[in-house]
Amino acid sequence: MIIIMGPHVSEDEIKAVEKKVEESGLTTNVSRGTERTIIGAIGDERQVQKEAIEALPGVADVIRVVKPYKIVAREWHEADTIVDIAGIPLGGKTVQIIGGPCSVETQEQMDAAAEGVVAAGCRLMRGGAFKPRTSPYSFQGKGVEGLDIFKNAADKHKLPIVTELMDVRALDSFLERGVDVIQIGTRNMQNFDLLKEVGRVHVPVILKRGLSATISEWLMSAEYIAAGGNHNIILCERGVRSFEKAYRNMLDVTAIPVLKKETHLPVIVDPSHAGGKAWLVPTLSKAAIAAGADGLLVEMHPKPCDAWCDADQALNPDELKVLMGELEAVAKAVGRDI
Ligand code: PEP
Ligand code: MN
Repeated sequence: MIIIMGPHVSEDEIKAVEKKVEESGLTTNVSRGTERTIIGAIGDERQVQKEAIEALPGVADVIRVVKPYKIVAREWHEADTIVDIAGIPLGGKTVQIIGGPCSVETQEQMDAAAEGVVAAGCRLMRGGAFKPRTSPYSFQGKGVEGLDIFKNAADKHKLPIVTELMDVRALDSFLERGVDVIQIGTRNMQNFDLLKEVGRVHVPVILKRGLSATISEWLMSAEYIAAGGNHNIILCERGVRSFEKAYRNMLDVTAIPVLKKETHLPVIVDPSHAGGKAWLVPTLSKAAIAAGADGLLVEMHPKPCDAWCDADQALNPDELKVLMGELEAVAKAVGRDI
């Protein structure tokens, strides 16, 4: 930790800072420059409350040198994490495309969607049984019945399933049905009690980025899950809130290389909720893979115009298949395969 003192600091103020730091078990090193005095706090800086130092007279700024997250940080774990999803690796050389509808509607719809997922060459399937809708009057998802419908459709093709958990009270239903990946949605990225609970299980988790979350806040949320013992975490960039109205959310492509530098966790991209329009999905998908994403979460519906949720952004099965072919070339260009 580096403590920068104000321009007219007194010796007593410097001594008070040194005392406070040393009380927390750290040592200090005072550097008296011509303009400023800088105090270095040496030792485990997590033992020192930044705010308590900032509040001392004469202190201008306090800078932490160690990241506030640890388990998920690249500086503590250099090698890329590869999450094993029922035998399918996510985070290695192969880019994984997770396809499927926004929400589970009927058995027929999910059976057709599963066929489309397999025909396109995807190895994992998505579908929401519990839906976080902006309006309470919109379709809220089929709930536990939806999990059964989804599992039934996916099992026929041995497809691992990815589905959103909104409430900790549904966690047992997820575990009993063998959900392969628990999705924590954008709106719950900072639902810390939910994060703690999924941290206690060992099921892989896709943690979506909050609507306006910074990368640091997002990684702190991942740290909540990791701190409980569950290190099978996949980060999903799905676009952030911006001033622009021409598309649903602004895909933060820059976040991909930044995350790759900051964390060893796999990073995937959801081009569907970013663009909000089916025609944008191929371009955003290619950009994501070119920028180093380890996978994509893509909405595909057997009949997009009949979808109960997010109809405008769903690809149809043929479009997903065409996209998979195009993505192969992009993946190859960056030393990956699909
Ligand atoms: C979803 O993937 O179905 C979803 C609701 O996404 P998000 O949480 O990113 O809005
Ligand atoms: Mn959706």
